[in-house]
Amino acid sequence: MASPPVGVKVNLARCTGAEDCVRICPEVFEMDRYGYPMVRAFDGEDREIRTRLREAVARCPEGAIVILDSAR
Ligand code: SF4
Repeated sequence: MASPPVGVKVNLARCTGAEDCVRICPEVFEMDRYGYPMVRAFDGEDREIRTRLREAVARCPEGAIVILDSAR
């Protein structure tokens, strides 16, 4: 059974561009040309990626990443 899409949001007002999220979970985050993370499309089906996504949320030094739905 397919998982529903995962919503991930980065609060750019808090983000300092530390890039931890990209290092921890490059399947979901990539840096844009201005040094801020963009969220890639992620359907939430891969358990390993979901685990790394949760780790990225936990290790963001600014608490700037929020998971909105099914990856919790
Ligand atoms: S880890 Fe947090 S502060 Fe660093 S780039 Fe990602 S969202 Fe921004």
